[in-house]
Amino acid sequence: MASQLRILIIEDSADDALLMVKELERSGYEPISERVETSEGLQTALDRQTWDIVLSDYVLPHFDVKAAINIVRGKDPNIPFILISGKIGEEKVTAALKFGAQAYVSKDHLTTLVPIIEQEITDARLRRNNKRNEQLLVESEQRYRAVVTHLPDIVMIHQAGKIVFLNQSLPQISGYQKEELIGKNLIEFIAPKDRKKVVEMVARRAAGETIDDYEADLVMKDGTLRPFLIRGTMIDYLGQKASLAVLIDIYEREKEEKVKDEFLSIVSHELRTPLEITREGISQVIDGLHGQITEAQNKPLATALKNCDRLGHLIENLLDLSRLEAGKIVPRQEIFDIVKLALETTTTLKARIDTKGLSLKGDFPTEPLYILADKNEISEVLSNFVTNAVKFTSKGSITVSVEKKEEKVECAVTDTGIGISKDDLPKLFRKFQQFARVPGSGEKGVGLGLSIAKRLVEINGGQIWAESEPNKGSRFAFSLPLTQAK
Ligand code: ADP
Repeated sequence: MASQLRILIIEDSADDALLMVKELERSGYEPISERVETSEGLQTALDRQTWDIVLSDYVLPHFDVKAAINIVRGKDPNIPFILISGKIGEEKVTAALKFGAQAYVSKDHLTTLVPIIEQEITDARLRRNNKRNEQLLVESEQRYRAVVTHLPDIVMIHQAGKIVFLNQSLPQISGYQKEELIGKNLIEFIAPKDRKKVVEMVARRAAGETIDDYEADLVMKDGTLRPFLIRGTMIDYLGQKASLAVLIDIYEREKEEKVKDEFLSIVSHELRTPLEITREGISQVIDGLHGQITEAQNKPLATALKNCDRLGHLIENLLDLSRLEAGKIVPRQEIFDIVKLALETTTTLKARIDTKGLSLKGDFPTEPLYILADKNEISEVLSNFVTNAVKFTSKGSITVSVEKKEEKVECAVTDTGIGISKDDLPKLFRKFQQFARVPGSGEKGVGLGLSIAKRLVEINGGQIWAESEPNKGSRFAFSLPLTQAK
C-alpha cells in the first residue's frame, strides 16, 4: 500500500503545486495535499488538520516566506518547512534557512524533492521524540526530587566521604544549614566513638562487599548525639562512583528500649529476692525440715517448686539481657579448642535428645580449632541452639557441627523439626519472639534465648544467623575468628 503524506503547499501557481504532487506520486506516495496562497489560508489549513510537511514557494505575491515560517512555527515548531523555488540566489536561501526553513529544493531539480522530504520527516520525528524524552526525564526527575525531599529519613550521597547531595532531613534534624553540610566530609558529623566503624563500613562497601545496616551516632549542631541506622549502597552519580546512604532516625526507638530495659532490670531485681525466699521456704518444707509431710502434700509443693525454678530462670534471662544491653557484661576471654567445647556441650545434652527419641549426629574435624572467646558464653549459645532444636523437633535428628571456614570457625546445630517461616526469620533474634508453641507440657521458653545468644556471640566478636524451611528443619549457626593455640 502506498504511504500517505499530508502536504501543505504554499504556492501561487497551481501548476507548480501539481508538479510537486506528481513527483511524490512517482515515488510511490499517496499525497493528500492542499494549496494555499495567503496567510489566512495558511492559518485555516493549519488549524483544520495536522500536516507532515509544508512546501513553500519563495516568491509569494500575497505574503512573504518569513511570515509563512512564523505562522507554521507558531502552530508546530517541529513540522518541516521546505522551500521550493526557481533561481533565487544563495543569499536568500541562506537567510530563509536561518529563519527556520529546514531545506531548499530548486524547482529545476524536483527529483531531489522526495529524498529531502523523507529526510526531513525522519528528522522531525527524532526532534519530537527527543523533546518528549526530555520532558519525560524532567517529569521523572521532579517526581523523584519530590519523594526524596519529603522523605523523613536522611538521604545522602557522598563520594569517598564528601557529601555531594542531601535531602532536607539532616538539616531539619541536626540544626545545621544545608550549606554547612554539603562539600564537608561525612565523618566530621559522626560521633568520635563510631568514626572508625563508619570509615571501615564505607570502605568495605566501596570495595564491593554487601554490608548489613549498622548503627552510628551523629553529632547535632548543639553537640548532642543522636542514633541512626545506616543503610547504604553504591551508585553511579554523575558518571562517578558514589555511596547512597539512607539514615533512619532511631532516637525514639532507642529511648523506648532504654525505658523498657530499665523497667525490666528493676522488675527482675525486685522479683528475684522474694522468689528466692519463697523457693527456699517450699524447699525446706519438701525436705522435711519443718516436720514430715504426706505424699498428697508433697505433690502441689513440688509443682510450686518447679514453677519457682521456671520463674527464676526467666528472671535470670531478663537480668542477663539487661546487663548485656547495658554493656555491663565483659567477656572473660581465653584461648580454647571449640571442637572440644562443642563435644562436651553436646554430651551434656545427649540425655535430653535421647529422651525425645531423636538421633544425635556430630560433624567435627579431627584437629583442634582455637578461638579467643568466653568459654561459658559460647557454651551457653550452643546449649541454647541444641535445647531449641530438641524443643522444636519431634522426629529425626539433631546434628552439631564445627567447621573451619577460611579465617573463621563455624559452629552449627541442624534439626529436622518444624522450621520457621520466611516472615518470622528476620525477627528471630529479637526479644520475646516466639513463633511456635511447644506442644504438650514440654519446657516452655519466653523468647529470650536467641536474643541473649546473639549478644553473647557479638560481644565475643562473632556473627550469628539462622536458615530454615517450614516443616523441613532449621540450621542455627555462629562464626568466630580463629586464633593460634597458646
Ligand atoms: P524460647 O525460649 O521461646 O525458645 P528463643 O529465643 O530461644 O526462645 O527462641 C525464640 C523462638 O524461635 C522460639 O519460640 C521458636 O518459635 C523459634 N525457634 C528457635 N529455635 C527453633 C528451632 N530450632 N526450630 C524452630 N523454631 C525455633
